[in-house]
Formats: sequence, structure tokens, C-alpha cells
Amino acid sequence: MNIILLTVDALRKDSADSMDFVKELKKLGTSFEEHLTAEAIWTLPAVATQLTGRLIKDHQMIITKVGDSAEKESPDALPLSKSIQTFPQVLKECGYRTIAYTAGCFFSKIYDFDRGYTEWYEVGDWDKLKALVEFLDMDIDKSFFHTHNFFVHDWPGDTEKSTVEWIKKFRSGKYTEDDVKFVRKVYEERVRRLDKYMCDSVLDRLKRRFDDLVFIFTADHGEAFLERENDFHHGSGRTERIESVVHIPLIFVGSGIPNRLVKARTWDYDLAPTICGLIGQSFPCEGRDLFRTNLDREVINVSKDSQPEVCVIDDKEKEKIKQQLKDAGYI
Ligand SMILES: [Zn+2]
Repeated sequence: MNIILLTVDALRKDSADSMDFVKELKKLGTSFEEHLTAEAIWTLPAVATQLTGRLIKDHQMIITKVGDSAEKESPDALPLSKSIQTFPQVLKECGYRTIAYTAGCFFSKIYDFDRGYTEWYEVGDWDKLKALVEFLDMDIDKSFFHTHNFFVHDWPGDTEKSTVEWIKKFRSGKYTEDDVKFVRKVYEERVRRLDKYMCDSVLDRLKRRFDDLVFIFTADHGEAFLERENDFHHGSGRTERIESVVHIPLIFVGSGIPNRLVKARTWDYDLAPTICGLIGQSFPCEGRDLFRTNLDREVINVSKDSQPEVCVIDDKEKEKIKQQLKDAGYI
């Protein structure tokens, strides 16, 4: 059995649902319709949660040596504690070839996130998608292919202004409705381009491999377009939790996966135990194996204003984590 995990950074649920590729996946496998990013809505903590099945209070991947936000990204950031297991480590220990295609950034060796992979490549987004196609054409078994793709995250690059300039403009309040419509359109064009590639080059290949493969499609968090004041490019303060930035796709298709839409609320920390469950392994953590949990009675719709119960990292919580890291001699 092979497993593929495609994480599309900053792909919000409503945009994912507009993709023909996603519509096809939903006809074939299991879609978790109320899947949420549990805590911080930026890549480093979200990726750490997906890899470990743990909340920030456990993995503590939110603070770098020079600051505690994505704008202050640092090359000498803190690595993930050795005592915390990641799900690729479990696959590797079970004899899986584990391959990662990433752009670095927050899904990076800097954080020791490569520890569970037998192969690690840092390449551009188109090259990651080509590598996915090549993987699907290989006659292999017991392989895990993981690619974290920034294809729709980097949409401001398609405009004359940089992301920082757009954020400044929206924070200043000096923007028009047309500005908001424009940036949303640019983002959706990126989604369309990704969709076309997945439909043209990936979908048929996937279908041909359904006997020996499970394909998983998800995101780390969504994207915001001023649904709430100042909330742009997945949250200016990075603690604002609204539908557009926490509601993300999670779909499984392939060998042994039933065709159903699950309406129960599920979380990004459920991903690791669910993937381990595909190969009959347990993964003790905060999350659940979603295929071995009875979710039928747990029907919860995400409303536009709903605030998930799991903790939001506020300044007080950040200070507490910082103190713990200081006490441990990290900073
Ligand atoms: Zn991200």
C-alpha cells in the first residue's frame, strides 16, 4: 500500500469545493466536511500539529528565537522536541519509504520536521506537482509521498504589490471594495490553475492506482479576504479565528476508503492518527483515527461566527510558552 498526502497551504474550504478535482474526489472517497485548523492559523504551528497530532501546548512550535510571528521568520528557530513523535517516523519504522517534497519555509529541516523522511526535497511548486505525477507512474509499494504546496498561498506574487504591501494597505483601512474583489479574484485564479493541473495530470493516474494507494487532500489553514476587519492573508493578528481561515478540506480516496460525506467536526490533529491507522498502527496523541471513531452522532455545522472550543493562543499563552522554553534553556 502507498499513501500520498497533498497539503495545499492556505486553501480555504469554499475554494477547495469549487475545484472540479475536489468534486471528483468526493464522488470516490470520504470527505470530512467540517474539518478545522484547531489553533494558530499560520503554517509553522499548523504543520507541527498535523505531523504530531498534538496541540501547541505540547509541541510548542509557535515561537522563534527572534519573535513569535510568521513575519519574523528566523533561520535559527527552535526545532521540534526530540521526545515528540511525528507520524512519518511511524511509517518509516514500519519499513515505508517516506518522501517529502516541500519548499522549506515553515515545513523545514530547520524545525527538524525531516526526521521521519527517508528522502527530503526542497523544490518549487510546479516541480512538486510533477514529482507527484512521477510518483503515481512508479511501480512501487510501501511508499509515502508527502508534498506541502504553496501554490495558492503565494497568490499576491501575481499582482504588482507584494504580500506585505497588500497587508499594509488593508491594515491602513485605505482600500476599496474593488481592491478586495481583485485580490480574491487573483487567489481564485491560482486555485483554478491548480485545479486544471490536478484534473488534467493527476486524477486519471490516481484512479488507476486505487487498488494499492490512498490519496489524502487537505490544507494547513484557510485564507481571509477582509471578512472581518483587518483579517487578510490568513489573519493579521494570527489569532483571529473565522470560518474562512479555519475551515479546510480533508478528503481520503483509494484503497478501502468508503464513499461518504462526514458532517462531524474533525480537527487537523486527527490527521496523524488517521494516517497511521491506514497501515494498522496506533498513534497516541490528542487526535483520533477518524476511520475508527464513530462520528455519526457528532454532527456539528460550522457557522460563520462559530468559535471552535480548542484554545486560541493569546499573548498570555505565548508568554507562558516562552517562559517554558527559557526554563528549558532554548532561548
Ligand atoms: Zn500555511
